[in-house]
Amino acid sequence: MPTTRVKKEEDFHEWYNEIVELSGLCDKRYPIKGMNVWKPYGWKIMMNIDRLIREEMERTGHQEVYFPLLIPESLFKKEEEHIKGFGKEVYWITHAGENELEERWLLRPTSETAMYPIFSLWIRSHSDLPFKVFQIVNTFRYETKQTRAFIRVREIHFFEAHTCHRDFEDAERQVEEDKEIAKRFFKKLCIPFIFNKRPEWDKFAGAFYTISIDAFMPSGRTLQLGSIHHYKDNFSKPYNITYEDKDGKRKYCHQTTYGMSERVLGAVVGIHGDNKGLVLPPAIAPIKVVIIPIIFKGKEEAIINRCLEIENTLKEASITCTTDLREDTPGSKFYDWELKGIPVRIEIGPREVENNTVVLARRDTGERIEVRKDEVIEKVKELFGKIEENLYNSAKRMLEESIVRVNNLEEAKKHEKKILEMPWCGNEECALRVEEELEVKTLGEAVDVKEVKGNCPVCGEVANCIVRFAKTY
Ligand code: ZN
Repeated sequence: MPTTRVKKEEDFHEWYNEIVELSGLCDKRYPIKGMNVWKPYGWKIMMNIDRLIREEMERTGHQEVYFPLLIPESLFKKEEEHIKGFGKEVYWITHAGENELEERWLLRPTSETAMYPIFSLWIRSHSDLPFKVFQIVNTFRYETKQTRAFIRVREIHFFEAHTCHRDFEDAERQVEEDKEIAKRFFKKLCIPFIFNKRPEWDKFAGAFYTISIDAFMPSGRTLQLGSIHHYKDNFSKPYNITYEDKDGKRKYCHQTTYGMSERVLGAVVGIHGDNKGLVLPPAIAPIKVVIIPIIFKGKEEAIINRCLEIENTLKEASITCTTDLREDTPGSKFYDWELKGIPVRIEIGPREVENNTVVLARRDTGERIEVRKDEVIEKVKELFGKIEENLYNSAKRMLEESIVRVNNLEEAKKHEKKILEMPWCGNEECALRVEEELEVKTLGEAVDVKEVKGNCPVCGEVANCIVRFAKTY
């Protein structure tokens, strides 16, 4: 029996809107549009996602910091491109109590302009470099488009890593490290993606270049999950972030950032979920295993005791689990936990007690197997691996099938809800023409595609790269 009123394959966005509330991720009734309330279950999953990010940061020598939410207008305005890019999206604070502030403050839309004046005080010499920090905070952007839970919101749960380096090349190495971090991180979430080098007119405000991390959603649109920016010395000059090099000269740092947001959770919901509810990768599931007693009259005690025994065994192996002892039918319990996306369900009835077995059911495929109770830990862990593999492979198939290579606009028009790859001369006018004719956005240069053949379909010039287009969020 499907849980959702709307089917995923029939109306993805309605299904998505329904499922984020039904499964207990968020409450959208807060009276400011785009500012949703995180419910305990959703927040717990987000915290688990953050834990995976923190592990990556720890592994790669980034230190966690926490900068203030408010930024004085004068600091914000130091980098010209940055203010142009964010100017229309920021919230201003103009009053404190009854008094008008001498200088306006803004709520951070991102933290470059809060951090960099302080970095310029912290960084003194080449021995302070590379300097690598990150923070996980809320940021604010005034969205005028239609809001959508986790995907387009006005208060954003945000991760941002900021680094400073001696020169351009060292910052380039950081970009490569960030790409590796993204690969490991998204693998744990079973989310495949593509890197695209955003075109000049759509790069991050103030960046030298931007590499975006784009996933493909079942709606046929791409979702930008994060971005990696090389700033060169574009920010270090206005913010005076310098160091004394070995030769005694003062030089400007080269900088990078890597940002991601709660959109990651939106992707998990949208890509893995089905008509029964969420399907969570084991790495972020708040409860990895739920144990359901299948009660028969006269056997209650033996069954419940066996459930609790298995719960203990799993907990000793650090597998988060719970036994559902509510007075309800097994069927309705199955339904609740499927909605929440718990990876593995264990069923124990009189037969299993007698045979010293348990039944394991996978959330992703629904497959059930009976195993001996003394091998339960091993088998559960094995299932986690299989679930991860299956979720990743299905999503990868969807992404791969979405990418189509076309050589002219007529051919491109035949494909809807796809990521289009085309040879490109690199000129803005040509890409904008494609955007207009096909009603798509330029994702950017396909940095992972090395072989370039063909001519730009708009101007006919020999292409120097492959460019991707898609409808986007
Ligand atoms: Zn062209």
